[in-house]
Amino acid sequence: SQVPFAVNEPVNSYVPGSPEVKSLIATYKKMWAEKTEIPMIINGKEVKTDEKIQLQSPQDHAHDFGFYYKGTMQHVDDAINAALAAKKEWNELGWEQRAAIFLKAADLLAGPYRDVINAATMIGQSKNVHQAEIDSACEFIDFLRFNVEFMTEMYSEQPVSDSGIWNRVEYRPLEGFCFAVTPFNFTAISGNLPTCMAMLGNVVVWKPSDKQVYSAKVIMDVLIEAGLPAGVINMVFTDGKETAEKVLAHPDFAGLHFTGSTKVFQGMWKMIGDNIHNYRTYPRIVGETGGKDFVIAHPSSNVEAVATALVRGSFEYQGQKCSAASRAYIPKSLWADVKKVMEIQMNSIKIGSPEDPSNFVNAVIDKNSFEKCRGYIDRAKVSGEAEVAIGGKYDDSKGWFVHPTVIETTNPHYESMVEEIFGPILSVYVYEDQDWKETLKLVDSTSPYSLTGSVFSQDRYAINEAFKALENASGNFYINDKPTGAVVGQQPFGGGRASGTNDKAGSKMNLLRWTSVRSIKETF
Ligand code: GLU
Repeated sequence: SQVPFAVNEPVNSYVPGSPEVKSLIATYKKMWAEKTEIPMIINGKEVKTDEKIQLQSPQDHAHDFGFYYKGTMQHVDDAINAALAAKKEWNELGWEQRAAIFLKAADLLAGPYRDVINAATMIGQSKNVHQAEIDSACEFIDFLRFNVEFMTEMYSEQPVSDSGIWNRVEYRPLEGFCFAVTPFNFTAISGNLPTCMAMLGNVVVWKPSDKQVYSAKVIMDVLIEAGLPAGVINMVFTDGKETAEKVLAHPDFAGLHFTGSTKVFQGMWKMIGDNIHNYRTYPRIVGETGGKDFVIAHPSSNVEAVATALVRGSFEYQGQKCSAASRAYIPKSLWADVKKVMEIQMNSIKIGSPEDPSNFVNAVIDKNSFEKCRGYIDRAKVSGEAEVAIGGKYDDSKGWFVHPTVIETTNPHYESMVEEIFGPILSVYVYEDQDWKETLKLVDSTSPYSLTGSVFSQDRYAINEAFKALENASGNFYINDKPTGAVVGQQPFGGGRASGTNDKAGSKMNLLRWTSVRSIKETF
């Protein structure tokens, strides 16, 4: 059957003073004041425990906006058992019935839940109005609608048959249950990981980041209202390491869908290796795990375009994107001009709480992140091989605010050129114009990651040189654009090397990992 044709959800521009922005800010203020209570959801039921964890807003650490109930390993067991018990009926429902639930969830997010999921993302994860809208409304809606369409395309792909025989394939869910582990920085990723597996008939234990529980709650509310049966997705708030040890030791564990740090993912992969003899089936492992994303400008590039891409790519959502531009290679002939334009743009950036929609930069997620950023800025200030070229301020008196900062270094291997910071800090290495080819080699070899990257040039031969030399340096490659903001259905997203398994979120390539095909030959 045909499913509704997926198109990208239009991004609401929230024009200052518009009814849309007034309504969103009113919802934000109401939710900010109301002290939310967030239970786990296991087998379709709210689960409350004796352990209440207070939730502090990143933009005002004196303000508790509520609490969540923390669970124990008993809850993880309950979640696994609920998932396994729900499996048979969920499969037998058939894909059209399953698809309808996720399409309805997308409509609920596009309509009555839009303000709520955006406000939860602004309060809990410190996104500004526009970043919240792009992520928690539009991208999540896109994941749901496009994945339904990709699923039907996938299911319709069948082998050829000769006369006298009929060949076909059956797309079965994985045998067992799946485990989704999701990050704080994108509500859309958090929603996508469990739902895309469930859509294909899988049952899921879902452990969101403890920094994202507010919007995770809204995701579950939406899914339940859309008709998701009990036990299909079970959301637990438990200790990450213990949960991984428990889940990954279970004989029915069949697949891990992860977005988060390289270190945690590698630890989990190792646990899976250690348990390999215990499983019924080889588990599928999909992970997206960080980046140190580059922008390289050729001497022929457009100065305004480079500067704008650096400001947006590095500082939108405070740089807390795996895809954020965090190391730039600028030719000496352009650097003074690029820097001047960046300074002008950065001076006009407003910093503060998302309650004011004109604030572009909000707080970083927590104290750890603040301290980490402060460390890089302070060390650059006293380092002999680096200096703070623009910005460099921070202020934790109210919230975890780090001002957009550019560190300029003469050492292409300086710490902030190599290490993932996950904050609003860009490092710039200025190269001699004639060293373009050597610089391409440097870009490729400097970082262990390979997620996103951009080349800027007006010279088609130079673009081609970068395209070839950086073949494995990123999973998403941008030409004359910032390296962030992949759109579902337009730029399948993911990277290799230390950035992940490159199973392209928001594409059929990803969905194929969550199905185990039976090949059938019938002879007449
Ligand atoms: N897909 C997002 C982008 O293209 C980044 C996701 C992430 O940070 O993990 O900007």
